[in-house]
Amino acid sequence: MVLKEVYNPHTESAFDQYKTEHASSIADPESYWGQKALENLDWFSPFDAVLQGSFTDGSVAWFVNGKMNACYNAVDRHVDTKGSQVALLWEGDEPGDTKSYTYTQLLARVCQIANAMKAEGVKKGDVVTVYLPMMPEVTMVMLACARIGAVHSVIFAGFSADAIAERIAASQSKWVFTSDEGLRGGKRLPLKNICDNAMNKEICINVVSKCFVFERTGGKCNWSDSRDVKFGALADSQRPYCPCETMDSEDNLFILYTSGSTGRPKGVVHTVGGYCLYAMETCKNSFGLKDGDVFACVADAGWITGHSYIVYGPLLNGVTSFMFESTPMYPDEGRYWDCVERHKINVFYTAPTAIRSLMRFGDTAPNKYDLSSLRVLGTVGEPINPEAWRWYYEVVGREKCSVVDTYWQTETGGHVITNYPGVTPMKPGSCTLPCFGIEAVVLDSQTGKEIEGNDVEGVLAIKQPWPGVTRTCLGDHERYLNVYMKPYPGYYFPGDGCRRDKDGYIWITGRVDDVLNVSGHRIGTAEVESALVAHPSVSQAAVIGFPHDIKGQGICCYCTLTYGHEESEDLVKELRNAVRVAIGPFATPDLIVPTPSLPMTRSGKIMRRILRKIAAGETDTLGDVGTLGDPSVVQKLIDKVETLQ
Ligand code: ATP
Ligand code: MG
Repeated sequence: MVLKEVYNPHTESAFDQYKTEHASSIADPESYWGQKALENLDWFSPFDAVLQGSFTDGSVAWFVNGKMNACYNAVDRHVDTKGSQVALLWEGDEPGDTKSYTYTQLLARVCQIANAMKAEGVKKGDVVTVYLPMMPEVTMVMLACARIGAVHSVIFAGFSADAIAERIAASQSKWVFTSDEGLRGGKRLPLKNICDNAMNKEICINVVSKCFVFERTGGKCNWSDSRDVKFGALADSQRPYCPCETMDSEDNLFILYTSGSTGRPKGVVHTVGGYCLYAMETCKNSFGLKDGDVFACVADAGWITGHSYIVYGPLLNGVTSFMFESTPMYPDEGRYWDCVERHKINVFYTAPTAIRSLMRFGDTAPNKYDLSSLRVLGTVGEPINPEAWRWYYEVVGREKCSVVDTYWQTETGGHVITNYPGVTPMKPGSCTLPCFGIEAVVLDSQTGKEIEGNDVEGVLAIKQPWPGVTRTCLGDHERYLNVYMKPYPGYYFPGDGCRRDKDGYIWITGRVDDVLNVSGHRIGTAEVESALVAHPSVSQAAVIGFPHDIKGQGICCYCTLTYGHEESEDLVKELRNAVRVAIGPFATPDLIVPTPSLPMTRSGKIMRRILRKIAAGETDTLGDVGTLGDPSVVQKLIDKVETLQ
């Protein structure tokens, strides 16, 4: 099938309207966001100023002195008009094991959990660690924290005891939520025992007061009578109403660690007012939400994607949020589409890595199901290569759905660059144009000057504050300034490189640290990876540079092969040629390493910094591997590269 450059399921008038609204949102952000905040959020008392402070000294504050509560906005205020509508629709590990909670029921349960937390001594401002599987309680606990003013710190329930301990200690978190076990893909995970190992570590001694344990499987786990609380039963005994704490707009709502793709994870802090407004607005605009929608974000709640688009975004908008406990491959590769059919999902949001791995099984699975409820498909986390985009659009979306390629980060709180469905003409592989309120610019990486015009390349930066931008790194404002604010003074710097094409569309070329410089040519890793994945034998590719005597940097490509394709010299030649043809002879790979798997973060991103070290032979300084999904792939790759070099 031919890949078109532009896909047009939109109307010109909608696109013109976007351009007008975007221009006015960046010309006068204070009146734009001030009005949105008054229209869309319920305030206990109004704010005195819309925006205060600047990027330069990292002092940004939104809706100054405004008082509100995130849980009230996400749940309580919908009960009068939508009390009997499903707020949370949960599908467990086994197909068809479902639970649903209406807004009225969700409010009652969140209140019981909040009251139980208060009964145990949790206070406003306390940090509550949440190490829970994808059971409904993870959403409820986050909302209960927001209700009583506690700050949630959710840790993806795949992390090791060391990673948990580090996060508990860093935030001095007295309270920890977990469950007896987790259940994923038919396997049980001993979450409570892992949590115990974390809490018993030296750095956590005298930090944790209580561990609140929900029952997920009823399986056996360690128990300490003095520390552990059977939390489900405690919540059952509570009154189903709990008043909302009055929170300042700039009080902390949560702490969340980044994926750790580029180094030690950063404890990103988000605050109540700005974050809520931004999660709500981006969820509405980027997915073209309609009343009554069933919105499915199949990320884990432990990532920002889960925070903004499972919990806060959909509920603030009063739609039905679908929550998924299992994996895309369980019991088979049709599981997502089975869920879409049974739950009549309207918006489906996942990551390129999931799309690529499902694509390699072919079209049979998606073709088996009725996917006619789908209206919008979204992707997030990495650049999506056009080949995978096409499959998503044509096979899953049946050429009827918009595919939104949402570019953003833990630190941005919500999307910052994406097409809007039915509004922006789509180009496969480009995240397209900035969201309302976002002034995206391309800077010269050396001089820091803005590059004007189109058909240009440089680093991406955002020129003025938006409500969802993170306010600090936990306990380390210096790091916050150094990473985001100081590299290009006056701008927020996300750390990604980009190209602005002839139509003004943004293409993320990869992390700035990853851009290749081969004999003076700057080459984006994403481009080389797309060329490789376009070959039928390659399912995932990771491209990195390594020191090269003549060229400065050589190009090393790690490729996982699709089923039925074997590693051979001919194949390596073919792949090398595919890159030459797609990009140019200057981009010819020096080394192609076929591999059964790649080092991925637990959020499913390729960890290029480790691949870089392996290709450079610096295997004794691999850095933090704590967020790796499967650490054993590292040694296999080291051995493999040694034999090839
Ligand atoms: P760390 O900051 O610890 O290295 P991380 O950057 O992977 O980890 P996240 O906040 O989860 O942590 O990911 C944000 C990054 O993911 C972005 O900076 C960008 O590099 C990449 N990304 C996210 N969405 C897209 C997208 N649609 N297109 C291209 N890249 C994307
Ligand atoms: Mg990052």
